[in-house]
Order: sequence, then C-alpha cells, then structure tokens
Amino acid sequence: MKINKDKNFERELPSGYKQLLHINAKDAKFGIIFNLISLLVLAVVLAVAIFSLSFKGYTFGEVFSLDLPNLLIAYLVFFLSIFSYIILHELVHGVAYKSLTGEKLTFGLSWSCAFCGVPNIFTYRKTAIIAIVAPFAVFTILLIPTIIALYFVSPLYYLIFAFVFGLHFGGCSGDLYLLILLLIKYKDNTTLMRDTGPEQFIYVKTKES
Ligand SMILES: [Zn+2]
Repeated sequence: MKINKDKNFERELPSGYKQLLHINAKDAKFGIIFNLISLLVLAVVLAVAIFSLSFKGYTFGEVFSLDLPNLLIAYLVFFLSIFSYIILHELVHGVAYKSLTGEKLTFGLSWSCAFCGVPNIFTYRKTAIIAIVAPFAVFTILLIPTIIALYFVSPLYYLIFAFVFGLHFGGCSGDLYLLILLLIKYKDNTTLMRDTGPEQFIYVKTKES
C-alpha cells in the first residue's frame, strides 16, 4: 500500500491559520525544566531498580564486585548503550517523518537536547503524533522485556539497562508533553505542526477562511 504523503503535510501555511503555541528546547527555562524532569524520572527508575534487586538478595556493592576485565566491559556496554540510544531515538523520529512525508530532515544537538525535525513543511496532527510518539513506543516495547529478562540473568546488566530505560523515559518528557498537548488540547485534525528540531510551532484553523 502506498501512502499518499502529500495529504500528511502542507508546504505553505494555508490561509486562516493562527499560531497558538511555540515550544523552544533551546529556551533556558524550558530546557532546564525538562532536563530536571528527565533527571528526576531517571532517579526514580534507578531507585526502583536498585530496590527490586534486594528481593534477589543482592546488595549494591555485590552487583559491582567483578574482576577488572568484566567491569571494563560493563562500562563499555554502559556508555555505548547510552550513546546508541540517543542516536537511535532521533533516527526513529526521522524514519517516521521520512516515511510519512518524504521531506528533508534535520538532525542536531543543542545544549539541552538532541533533536530531529522536518523543518520545511507543516505536518498535520496525525503525522505529528506518530512521529513524536514513535521513539517512546519503540524503545519502551524493546527495553521492558530486556530489563525483565536481565533481572533474572545479571544484576549488573539489569542496572545498566534500567539506567538506559530511565534515560529513555525521562528523555521522552519533551516528546510526551507535546504528545499530550496534541491529544488533549489540539484535537482538531486540521491542526498543523512545524517541527524544526529544537522548536515546534502549533497552528490551528480559525473559524472560517
Ligand atoms: Zn524525541
């Protein structure tokens, strides 16, 4: 089945539309608030993970009591997983945007976040929702069974992937904020979003045009 991509976006903002929201991740207040939320979520996830290990009779110290080569491998896995996650998260946004619009993407990194956008067009609400929620859905589905399995296999790798999950869940706070706005506040399917990566603009159709 071929998707009619043209129906998913507009190249120009149609007449009769008004900008109702502007989110800027580079804005100091927004960037700091969402990074604090991310850190808080990460801390809660890690606390739950460490607490859950006590049911298996492990103490925190025991989890890390490995010989040097195995400890170095664990460090490597830890940093590679975090690095890969950040890149893959943005790539999943990109794949969703690309498959729904076919338009040019932009990727980047700012002081407050990594980002992916489709800056030259105005995407309709449904397209925006799919592209925004895609990484959250994909990595939640992949990471939860992985973490559950690791709980029974390796306490150290369980903690490492609990960290990645906390980073994922917290790091999605900006995406989830935008998702909730589109699901609850901007319910009309004629709503358009322009996503430049770090900035999102929401436009709604005013009365009649
Ligand atoms: Zn994202």
